[in-house]
Amino acid sequence: MNARRTTLKTLVASLALGLSFAGTAVHAQDKGLVGIAMPTKSSTRWISDGNSMVKAFAEKGYKADLQYAEDDIPTQLSQIENMITKGVKVLVIAAIDGTTLANTLQKAADKGIKIVSYDRLIVGSKNVDYYTTFDNFQVGVLQAQTIENALGLKSGKGPFNIELFGGSADDNNAFFFYDGAMSVLDPYIKSGKLVVQSKQMGMQKVATLRWDGQVAQSRMENILSAYYSNKRVDAVLSPYDGLSIGIISALKGVGYGSASQPMPYISGQDAEVPSVKAIIRKEQGSTIFKDTRELAKVTVNLVDAVLSGKKPEINDTKTYNNKVKVVPSYLLKPVAVDINNYKQVLIGSGYIKEEQLK
Ligand code: BGC
Repeated sequence: MNARRTTLKTLVASLALGLSFAGTAVHAQDKGLVGIAMPTKSSTRWISDGNSMVKAFAEKGYKADLQYAEDDIPTQLSQIENMITKGVKVLVIAAIDGTTLANTLQKAADKGIKIVSYDRLIVGSKNVDYYTTFDNFQVGVLQAQTIENALGLKSGKGPFNIELFGGSADDNNAFFFYDGAMSVLDPYIKSGKLVVQSKQMGMQKVATLRWDGQVAQSRMENILSAYYSNKRVDAVLSPYDGLSIGIISALKGVGYGSASQPMPYISGQDAEVPSVKAIIRKEQGSTIFKDTRELAKVTVNLVDAVLSGKKPEINDTKTYNNKVKVVPSYLLKPVAVDINNYKQVLIGSGYIKEEQLK
């Protein structure tokens, strides 16, 4: 009896021990909580960014608190404050307004939380530790080059009428996109091969608050009625697919998009499904593909390195001055996409499935 009891006890004890070993093993995988603050679900790119990061963090043993703020600044601030309270080790933030986070980030830094600016640079704070993004100037260059090619500007064709749109002025990226694009377009404007009939140029005049497609649509409608009653628009520089959708609606509203009045050549960004469909229908000319899966991967690797006391991989230490300091950055390469390469680039890479484009 006694012997049996002892065996049983040993068995129970060793089982318990085994379980606690297993428990410890699981625990060792638990590297803590990270906070991911994304701007909005109204654009699919941010959904892809968020989901890819949660997955990649989980694979490395982190739990993630992923929040979207539907482009409302106070909502994003309180989401970030909640993350700080919950004890995150790192904040990965794609800011709605990159200029309003300094106080909140100070609270995070005081608790030793590391801060990664994701895709959009947070300005005016010394507490931005790293920045992961795409080469934003190059995005603008590529957008403008698709227009340059489509119009045949290099071979001397023209003059053509063009209108210019910029992104949200509280997003540092918007200036990089615009400056990159103007580095290509400005010489043609100066030589008269491109004419901006509205004369609306410069970010002060062409910015689109909160990247809002409706705002772009209204502005395009106003431009069309004020300057194009007896002229044709040949191209529109648009920095984002969501704006291109609004611009296309405005153009269709006054009869563009028919055989006798074809659409102008319109650029875009993000390779969002509705806009790739518009490219296939020849309503939009181009978009810029930024592989958000890659950006997520790079960011998660960077965070993991920082939290493991290793040196994270950085490939740019000059470009991104946030008005307080130059933020060490990792830049990925954007790719221009049009009707000729969308299959290879977007479907071939698995970013978009063929069925989604039907
Ligand atoms: C991003 C773009 C995006 C835009 C609007 C920018 O900060 O870099 O990819 O099109 O925000 O969401």
